[in-house]
Amino acid sequence: MEDCIFCKIVRGEIPATVIYESPDALAFEDVNPMAPVHAVVVPKRHVATLMDVTDGMMEGLMAAVRQVATIKGIADKGFRTVINCNEEGGQVVFHLHIHVLGGRKLSDDMG
Ligand code: AMP
Ligand code: ZN
Repeated sequence: MEDCIFCKIVRGEIPATVIYESPDALAFEDVNPMAPVHAVVVPKRHVATLMDVTDGMMEGLMAAVRQVATIKGIADKGFRTVINCNEEGGQVVFHLHIHVLGGRKLSDDMG
């Protein structure tokens, strides 16, 4: 996808602070962190939303989430994963991504 910001990060065309990379996934620091740890995990292949996921795609992404949690030192303390889907779900970037939030006690407000 030519103009997709996360595709551009995957291609190295715009900078990001990469935390972890696998053949299928890239994890990097969120540019506008909502918690002391805030990473986004994206598939390297462009997929717009959670509704466009195909069978077998999520395993690799969730494995990348676990790697991020371990690397950032929040695996045992705990963390939250969030996938915003479409407009009312608060999705702004239409390249599937999993937010990984932690580093403090998170609020109970889920929306
Ligand atoms: P969402 O609302 O779920 O679509 O979240 C999009 C997220 O992408 C937001 O948390 C943004 O801060 C983050 N974001 C947007 N542009 C960048 C970027 N260039 N590098 C890192 N994170 C970004
Ligand atoms: Zn994309």
